[in-house]
Amino acid sequence: MASISLKKLNKTFGALKVVHDIDLEIADKEFIILVGPSGCGKSTTLRMIAGLEEISGGELRIGDDVMNDVPSKDRDIAMVFQNYALYPHMTVYKNMAFGLQLRKAPRDFIDDKVKEAANILDITHLLNRKPKALSGGQRQRVALGRAMVRNPEVFLLDEPLSNLDAKLRGTMRAEISKLHKRLNATFIYVTHDQIEAMTMADRIVVMKDGHIQQVDTPQQLYDRPINMFVAGFIGAPQ
Ligand code: ADP
Ligand code: MG
Repeated sequence: MASISLKKLNKTFGALKVVHDIDLEIADKEFIILVGPSGCGKSTTLRMIAGLEEISGGELRIGDDVMNDVPSKDRDIAMVFQNYALYPHMTVYKNMAFGLQLRKAPRDFIDDKVKEAANILDITHLLNRKPKALSGGQRQRVALGRAMVRNPEVFLLDEPLSNLDAKLRGTMRAEISKLHKRLNATFIYVTHDQIEAMTMADRIVVMKDGHIQQVDTPQQLYDRPINMFVAGFIGAPQ
């Protein structure tokens, strides 16, 4: 069960408090999207869930387990970044296989997993290429594939489409929604694109200055924003 619970979660960098007492209950297999202006604490929140950033206060649970002090590698979580973070000297196959190799998975198992993910993402023909020989959209698919092979219960995606052009973003929005249904995993997705938020999310979390403003379905947010900030953010033209 990959329900996720944030209780009074805090993050400070020195004297700077960037995440303030965040309370959020995310259901197993939910697709939840964090939105808000640049610098409001979206990535920091995601990185605390991933274990890439120490939690300054409060509690993070996944299922029934308190995760605050569990190292990143021991969390059943995969993260996809905006800049893809592919290894430039490795082929696509190796990029996707690498995480499983580190975990000493058997070679046949790794091969099956990589080929299965490549097939789903339609990148089988790219497996022998290096990242520099790929388009932005192809790189993003590889980054998704690399996350998928580990079969995590939780996917964290930090602005995964923001480097793509508008047309490709539309295609990838649909692909990621399909992937979410197919993988049966909990997705936490950060974006500043309101179209992504409104079309992909089960629920949207609107953040401002490290605080949660409102958590609701896209329809409820649109119909009943609790304040001008939320209304402006959801209604703002891109
Ligand atoms: P967002 O993803 O919403 O744009 P971030 O979570 O990246 O925002 O950043 C929130 C705030 O925390 C920003 O003011 C940012 O400058 C600050 N911040 C992020 N990482 C660090 C760090 N490692 N050291 C100091 N300040 C940081
Ligand atoms: Mg960010």
